[in-house]
Amino acid sequence: MIIVMKRYAPKHEVEGVCDRLQENGFQIHLSEGIERTIVGGIGERTNEIVDLLLTMPGVENVVPIVQPFKLASKEFKKEPTIIKVASNFIGDGSLQIMAGPCAVEGRDKFIEIAKLVKDAGATMLRGGAFKPRTSPYSFQGLEIEGLEILKEASQITGLPVVTEVMDPRMIEVTAEYVDILQVGARNMQNFFLLRELGKINKPVLLKRGPSATIEEWIMAAEYIISSGNPEVILCERGIRTFETYTRNTLDLSAVPLIKDLTHLPIIVDPSHGTGKWKLVKPMALAAIGAGCDGLMVEVHQKPSEALSDGPQSLTPENFADLASKANALKNALA
Ligand code: PEP
Ligand code: MN
Repeated sequence: MIIVMKRYAPKHEVEGVCDRLQENGFQIHLSEGIERTIVGGIGERTNEIVDLLLTMPGVENVVPIVQPFKLASKEFKKEPTIIKVASNFIGDGSLQIMAGPCAVEGRDKFIEIAKLVKDAGATMLRGGAFKPRTSPYSFQGLEIEGLEILKEASQITGLPVVTEVMDPRMIEVTAEYVDILQVGARNMQNFFLLRELGKINKPVLLKRGPSATIEEWIMAAEYIISSGNPEVILCERGIRTFETYTRNTLDLSAVPLIKDLTHLPIIVDPSHGTGKWKLVKPMALAAIGAGCDGLMVEVHQKPSEALSDGPQSLTPENFADLASKANALKNALA
């Protein structure tokens, strides 16, 4: 439930409410807004505790949150969550474009593509150091060496970096090297990983699982937030359907739906979402039309030689065209 405090309720009244909730076994999440403080109480709501809270000084109202997700919900927090990454903001109405190869394949190659995507309009770099491959015989990523390369590319270009972390044991080291930690689609319901990511103070980009409903996806975000990290960025990357012409079916209705249900920013990955480079630009533009806060796009110098996901990777030239049209469309819609 959420306890809405009266406007400018003094600190000691807010603390009184928190103490009472804790005594009754509730977990507390404070949201100190411009107008007023909202106290989120996660626990078992009984009529007795609601009545008790209503009598406490400073309490204006007690509102049950009907959704299964609480802290991610719009009911809990009306203002959109804006996440600052270096000097970029995700969720403030701007368009963030994260670009780079599927995997970091080597130092020189990555530094080169990082400079190319920056010149073409990328605002952040992407690249996998730990790759979740369907086959154990496929390229698995450069791991720690890949993280070092990502950091160097970030320093050279001045762009922040996002990379996937698959194993809780790798969270600490990954967080030392990159700006945003990505949870891949296959790990969306790895609850232990989500909980551990809730303990760090870096943003988490949470991809939608290939077979996850919107509710399951938001509940996964709830795991991270309720473990202490409110900086969650959702990423729609396509879901598995009966269609075989595309790798996944990109569910763009998720964008306005997420905006309606939650306060979290959402970006779209049309590369994994379609699996086909020719579909990436039109779906990226459609995603902007749907209201997303950013894009994640795979780009490779020579897609035909990429160690992973070549068929869905754009050339730097095609990416430059996408980025300029994406920004023009975003401005036109502003
Ligand atoms: C990726 O972004 O490199 C990736 C593996 O994506 P997904 O988890 O969406 O398949
Ligand atoms: Mn990929």
